[in-house]
Amino acid sequence: MHNKLYVVIPCYNEEEVLAETSKRLKEKFLSLVSSGMIHPDSRVVFVNDGSKDRTWEIIKALHEEDALFCGINLSKNRGHQNALLAGLMTVKEDADLVISMDADLQDDIDAMDEMIGKYLKGIDIVYGVRSSRRKDSFFKKVTAEGFYRLMNVMGANTVFNHADYRLMSKRALEGLSEFQEVNLFLRGIVPMIGYPMDMVYYERGERFAGESKYPFLKMLSFAVEGITSLSTKPIRMITFLGFFIFLVSIGMLIYSVVRHFMGATIVGWTTLMVSVWAIGGLILLSLGVVGEYIGKIYLETKARPRYIVEEFLK
Ligand code: UDP
Ligand code: MG
Repeated sequence: MHNKLYVVIPCYNEEEVLAETSKRLKEKFLSLVSSGMIHPDSRVVFVNDGSKDRTWEIIKALHEEDALFCGINLSKNRGHQNALLAGLMTVKEDADLVISMDADLQDDIDAMDEMIGKYLKGIDIVYGVRSSRRKDSFFKKVTAEGFYRLMNVMGANTVFNHADYRLMSKRALEGLSEFQEVNLFLRGIVPMIGYPMDMVYYERGERFAGESKYPFLKMLSFAVEGITSLSTKPIRMITFLGFFIFLVSIGMLIYSVVRHFMGATIVGWTTLMVSVWAIGGLILLSLGVVGEYIGKIYLETKARPRYIVEEFLK
């Protein structure tokens, strides 16, 4: 049976929620095991991301109490994405399937049944997508949805309203491990892996206890991080802008010369106007061209896999 499940949960200062989260997960695991959906040796893995509170002590205690719970302790706070990746890569060998979720129970754990059901039917990646944000504050809703739109406009293609609640099969994890880039933005990389995928919709609850570790500014810097680590589209935008200004400068050239011959200008105005526009346009255009090459170098240094073979009939 290939259904040993590992649930990976990054935790940063989550002492207030771990007791409840572990209790709920244990119930869920018992029911999943008894219905035969997952292997009895399945595990919950908490990744402590350099918490400053008692998070790691609690994880250690849970582990001693019950073999269901495992823990990974990072040497310092490396951020949610890195903590999650650390967990995924650590369990890759042992697990047949992995579900990643947050510690705060905002991701509805009852959606797991449906996710695993899809996995058992042969789907490799199942995205948990929020069906509504009724429980988020207006501000959080507007900024969070703006986040996904901005990302897509800037060329970072992500699944709309999907955070990191997702199921991945072993071979999808192996595909992920081929991406060696340091600036790894999981939500953007996972769709690049390929393989059959599907979605499960769930209602996102309120944070069970404690505060969000993603205040507005952190979310904004996360978006910038995502865009710059996934796409070079901002550079392309500079090139287009340069080209546009250059076109305007030609228009200005014609306009200024016409004005000059109509005698409606003071001495020196024409040369000044033409040079300001032409030089500005040329500089921007050249900057864009140089940027295009830097973008290429950037993508080369990431050394992304060029393909992943799914099957080879010999
Ligand atoms: N998290 C982490 N490292 C960090 C920040 C957050 O591991 O530096 C974890 C956090 O413990 C939680 C998950 O990432 O399990 C999502 O954080 P949070 O719930 O605060 O984000 P929100 O749901 O408000 O967007
Ligand atoms: Mg949360």
